[in-house]
Amino acid sequence: MDFSLNDEQKMMIETVRRFIAEELQPLEDEIEDKGFLDNSKAQAIHDKAKALGLYGMNMPAELGGGGLSNMDRILCEEQFGHTSDILIRRAFGNVYEPLLHCKGEQIERWLKPAVAGTRTCAITITESGAGSDAAGIKTNAKKNDKGWVLNGTKHFISDGEWSDFFLVSAKTGEKEISMFMVDKGLAGFTVGKDQKMMGLRGTPHLELFFDNVQLEDAALLGEVGQGFKLAMGALNVVRLAQVGARAVGKATHVCELMLNWANERKQFGSKIGDFQMVQQMIADSVIEINAARWMVYHAAWMLDQGMDAREQIAMVKVHAAETLGRVVDRAVQVFGGMGFCKELSIERYYRDARIYRIYDGTSEIHRGVIAKSAMKKGAVLFDVNR
Ligand SMILES: Cc1cc2nc3c(=O)[nH]c(=O)nc-3n(C[C@H](O)[C@H](O)[C@H](O)COP(=O)(O)OP(=O)(O)OC[C@H]3O[C@@H](n4cnc5c(N)ncnc54)[C@H](O)[C@@H]3O)c2cc1C
Repeated sequence: MDFSLNDEQKMMIETVRRFIAEELQPLEDEIEDKGFLDNSKAQAIHDKAKALGLYGMNMPAELGGGGLSNMDRILCEEQFGHTSDILIRRAFGNVYEPLLHCKGEQIERWLKPAVAGTRTCAITITESGAGSDAAGIKTNAKKNDKGWVLNGTKHFISDGEWSDFFLVSAKTGEKEISMFMVDKGLAGFTVGKDQKMMGLRGTPHLELFFDNVQLEDAALLGEVGQGFKLAMGALNVVRLAQVGARAVGKATHVCELMLNWANERKQFGSKIGDFQMVQQMIADSVIEINAARWMVYHAAWMLDQGMDAREQIAMVKVHAAETLGRVVDRAVQVFGGMGFCKELSIERYYRDARIYRIYDGTSEIHRGVIAKSAMKKGAVLFDVNR
């Protein structure tokens, strides 16, 4: 087993790391204060990242993306965890894998512009009455002679304001769900209010309303009734990368801040890092981050081998998200009152970490997946002999 990174991987990580430190982190406080990222600054970081080949790195090279393997992608995503959600979106793009199911004219209209970053896409599944139960949606699309007529509402849609088009799940039959690509600006499609959140300042989360929106046949992604399944399958890798790897990156960042503070802050004439109870918080954080990191790497490696990593990714989703929560909670404790104070970024990290246990399937939903699979097939344990 070779756990080392090659020179190209090291260079790639260094390029992403430097870009984040030099171009993105300096914008974080301003976004936190204002609650949004200026359009001109968003465009500037987008253009710079693109020039460096950092946009859409998860997409195939033949489409203009970075053509990264799953392993290389998650190495980058781990670095993305060192900055804010909205900055990641503008600089590196959230180009969703389900778009790879585009065919024929869809490739030029939706897929390639998304990879190029000239059109941004949001993913639109959740409704007020259907969150964890993503199949319980009420939004529906009915066939007519011009294509499909879409009706319904969605909410919590990340980055909906900046997005040019939306991947929308809709019922096309009693038990049949399909995915559609819906352009902003179509008649009957309106964008509702920004739903203010506890964290992730700068990323809008929107309500969307579809009132008899006429879609062309070309708007259907994949086959009728299959789109949802295709999207859910593709979202597995999104979960590993955007939640698992980013959570590990964020926990690493917070741990570094905690270590610096424990080394510098003095009480009773000693560094607080010399006190055993503080050391326990540090040690537990280091152990848990490393465990989560190896789980992420292993799942990525499995995907690169063409193996089914569904259970492993469910485990990563739970473990990495909860590790981040524990690490950032300890960090606030180690910082003491300053951890609760808005003057330092640790307070922001604490708020931003909370969502990791909720979106992309809650911890409870993923624990359910793991337990059901274990009862049916036996526990999925790390076993090099299998
Ligand atoms: C900041 C943010 C960004 C988001 N971005 C997007 C986006 O871009 N696109 C999108 O489509 N959605 C998005 N979402 C929605 C997100 O995916 C859902 O919030 C999530 O799936 C949970 O659904 P819910 O909020 O309706 O909670 P519910 O499903 O109502 O769950 C409430 C509680 O019940 C528990 N629960 C539910 N069912 C079960 C069960 N079977 N077993 C055990 N416990 C259960 C849950 O674990 C949870 O603790 C976003 C949400 C937030 C907050």
